[in-house]
Amino acid sequence: MSADTQTPGPTTSHTAAQVLAEAGRRRTVAVISHPDAGKSTLTEALALHANALREAGHVHGRSGRAGVVTDWQDMEKQRGISISSAVLQLSHRGQVINVVDTPGHADFSEDTYRALTAVDAVIMLIDAARGMEVQTRKLFGVCKQRGLPVITVVNKWDRPGQEALQLLDEVETVTGLKPTPITWPVGIAGDFRGLLERHNGGYVKYTKAPGGATLALEERMSAEQAAELEGSSWQTALEESDLLSATDADHDEALFLAFETTPVYFTAAVANTGVGQVLDALVDVAPMPRDHLDQAGKTHEVTSDFSAQVFKTQTGMNPAHRDRLAFARIHSGVFHRGMTVRDNRSGRPMVLKHVQTVFGADRSTVDVAYPGDVIGLVNARHINVGDTLSENGRVAYPPLPVFAPEHFRTVRPKDLGSGKSFRQGLRELDAEGVVRVLTSDTRGHGEPVLSAVGALQFDVVQHRMTNEFRSAVTFTELPYTTARIVNAADAPKLRARRDIEVLEDSDGLLFALFSDDWRVRNFERDNPEVKLEKLVATS
Ligand code: GDP
Repeated sequence: MSADTQTPGPTTSHTAAQVLAEAGRRRTVAVISHPDAGKSTLTEALALHANALREAGHVHGRSGRAGVVTDWQDMEKQRGISISSAVLQLSHRGQVINVVDTPGHADFSEDTYRALTAVDAVIMLIDAARGMEVQTRKLFGVCKQRGLPVITVVNKWDRPGQEALQLLDEVETVTGLKPTPITWPVGIAGDFRGLLERHNGGYVKYTKAPGGATLALEERMSAEQAAELEGSSWQTALEESDLLSATDADHDEALFLAFETTPVYFTAAVANTGVGQVLDALVDVAPMPRDHLDQAGKTHEVTSDFSAQVFKTQTGMNPAHRDRLAFARIHSGVFHRGMTVRDNRSGRPMVLKHVQTVFGADRSTVDVAYPGDVIGLVNARHINVGDTLSENGRVAYPPLPVFAPEHFRTVRPKDLGSGKSFRQGLRELDAEGVVRVLTSDTRGHGEPVLSAVGALQFDVVQHRMTNEFRSAVTFTELPYTTARIVNAADAPKLRARRDIEVLEDSDGLLFALFSDDWRVRNFERDNPEVKLEKLVATS
């Protein structure tokens, strides 16, 4: 990004048909899962199958992955992809697959949920033994709220776990989506023989590949050969598959896109098994980028002029590049390097010269990108999360959702002399969505309050404030657990109550903080004329 507005951009033109064809080749997805279900392993295996990487393990190191996230830079080194990368671009069967990262370190932050606004479908990865865990449920809640189609992948099938039918029941009970398995495991969890491909009745037998460094050996067989080789395991799989068909548990694209069903795949990502089928699913089942509604309710077709929305900003992503990146998902039109765009808030023109894709620690310059792609704008300092970029600056997509914070702490610098870096650090972490910074004139010395969706976010703040902004901080927990957005006109009524605080965020939104839901209901009963706007719940 450059403030230089003199240089005209190149004027490479695309016809609408060309843009539509490029958009039609794109699938933009995120993997949601509970920590340890195998998200990094699956992502790496997908990259390996799509030939985007030489070998698994290149994307991130496997060492030292255990433990709570307390060391930002070490984590960054160990988990290149999870922290340093916003998107991984793969190509498979002539299609471009963008896997937008939902960072592991910020599993409980708003930043993670916002990544889901940049995708068209998700892979919900679950551990065969553990089923639908807490974080999976929370992230699923956001997909539900956005109507994002969900592809379910049951991982770690090489290990003892629950029965496949039992897992389907759990998925259905928790999500309300009817599972429609595309592949079906032959052999119980822990004795993974291979997969029945339900649409053609064929068998794909697997031989475990050592170390995860090479592709698993896949052997395709006919039903007759499978019956001979696997005997009763094959018969059981066939019977279960028939049972599924009898209950209409077969994939139907329209029902999947309407958020009524979820196709299901079984994998042992660590052994690269079943992963090729998941890649095929991204091409065959996942939707292409859709036309998008702007804030005024106007539809922007993928073939309209260039428009993109920023869903994430980050500084200090790589110690070698101490810069700030703003990540934007393209919704319509074509990005050309050197083009001039405006953001919807300031309308200020900027020439997009320094635009990159980030792949682990490596970056490369982007010359052209299409709907569905994610571009990283370098040092776009005045661009914020939620901003829309377009050629005339007049397109504005709906603001990104505000997720309900449940944790509130005051923050102050340990060293009072570090005031300037303290303020700068908080400003940046606020802009990135690591935490939300709330202030009020009525608080002593203007002491800011940090609000978070999950308590882990404070660990990230502490670490980054200490190491990146050189201003270690101390927190004091506040007794609130829930918040509502309120109008300025109603704020005095809330402020008059001793047990409610009203604070303002950097966008001017007013948050009323309550210690529990009972107090919210109590206030609503006493003041029916006051509108308390509920935030998007993640649980
Ligand atoms: P993440 O936290 O969701 O990114 O999980 P990881 O990809 O780091 O995996 C967590 C642990 O589970 C690691 O020790 C992996 O080697 C292991 N793992 C991942 N996939 C599989 C699998 O299919 N089978 C088995 N047995 N282990 C797996």
